[in-house]
Amino acid sequence: MTTANTADARFGFDTRQVHAGETFSGANPRITPIHQTAGYLFDSFDHTADRFSGDDLGFIYSRVSNPTNAVAEARLAALESGVGSLLTGSGQAAITVALLSLAGAGDHILSSVNLYEGTRALFRGAFKRLGIEVEFVTDPNNAEAWASRVRPNTKAFYGEPLSNPTNQVLDLTTVAETAHAHGVPLVVDNTLATPYLLRPIEHGTDVVVHSTSKFLSGHGTTIGGALTDAGTFPWADHSDRFPQFLEPVRPGKASFLEHFAEKTFWGYSRVRPAADFGPSYSALHTFLLLQGIDTLSLRLARHSENALAIARWLAEQPEVERVHHPLLDQHPHHDLAKRYLPDGSTPVFSFDLRGGKDAARTFIDSVELFSRMTHIGDVRSLILNPATTTHRRLTEQERQEVFVQPGTVRLSVGIETLDDLIADLDAGFQRLRAG
Ligand SMILES: *Cc1c(COP(=O)(O)O)cnc(C)c1O
Repeated sequence: MTTANTADARFGFDTRQVHAGETFSGANPRITPIHQTAGYLFDSFDHTADRFSGDDLGFIYSRVSNPTNAVAEARLAALESGVGSLLTGSGQAAITVALLSLAGAGDHILSSVNLYEGTRALFRGAFKRLGIEVEFVTDPNNAEAWASRVRPNTKAFYGEPLSNPTNQVLDLTTVAETAHAHGVPLVVDNTLATPYLLRPIEHGTDVVVHSTSKFLSGHGTTIGGALTDAGTFPWADHSDRFPQFLEPVRPGKASFLEHFAEKTFWGYSRVRPAADFGPSYSALHTFLLLQGIDTLSLRLARHSENALAIARWLAEQPEVERVHHPLLDQHPHHDLAKRYLPDGSTPVFSFDLRGGKDAARTFIDSVELFSRMTHIGDVRSLILNPATTTHRRLTEQERQEVFVQPGTVRLSVGIETLDDLIADLDAGFQRLRAG
């Protein structure tokens, strides 16, 4: 059977989100089947040995690779403009696998201070215990702030193109150029924007990570993560910094650089940290992820349109001190947002109520359509007070560094009817006005 190579970039984003990476075999089901199997049959003694020696690249065991996952991985790589993706059991696992592919005990990572709080906890806790030092850059759009901190053992620059909850925009080109000038790759977490709104690889990023639990799924049913390799970092030119890629993939065989070529990072992350630590994605969950990716562009267009309309409406309310939406003029990164986000911004943003924590409590307890939840990227609208939840562990000064106040309210705007969402939020303001 002949089918188009739909991973090819000459196909539009909407075509690729529905088709890229699909394969057909057996009874030729139209929908990618759930290959719910731990392992794979080998034909013979020699066939088995060839799989293990790498002379036959077929499937061996689902901790390392699985045909359902392979479809979703090819699809995500095609959407992110990368050469290969790897699914992991959660977004946290994707960040961990990506960075442990680069750094080990005694190494140093530079990270923007504007981080998802789970990532901050990972860097300060587990990574510290593993002997990896993560240093935070408090003015991440200043090239010198990164450059002046690079050391011989610095193995990665890390950041988020759009931060949660105040949407600080990372100047990807500047940070990528600074990283590359020092022989270091840039790794970014693109969960909030998704490849529909922003493709960091097209702005010089080397590795992209995701929590697929969020917009890529959209249905809020499953935890998952992924990393994508841009395929452009010149590892061979920096093998004193990254000697792990000179190791043989299998004893006596080619090195990662020789065997995987432009997919070196992808191959290493799959057969070393991901296979060793084992945070694999179940095929059943991948099936659900694929159902989500099918409609990514349609959902994100509606999500971000709803969110921008709500942001503009919030900015007119007297109880609101500030709206942290980067497509509003009042946001400090408005110019960067216009440059990097021509198709809209993330529906995860926040606003500050003048009345502080008490106002946030009254407001959040008044809504009925928005769900009080610590999750984002669902088709349903969600609401949360960061200071008493996700950002609870930070000191007052640390909260100020990421612009979170006691009265900050975070929204993850869904795809419901805009008027209904505004009416729900308006009930919160009516309650505040009633005192
Ligand atoms: C949710 C999230 C994560 C962590 O992902 P999990 O799937 O919950 O492990 C990482 N980064 C960002 C930006 C997130 O929103």
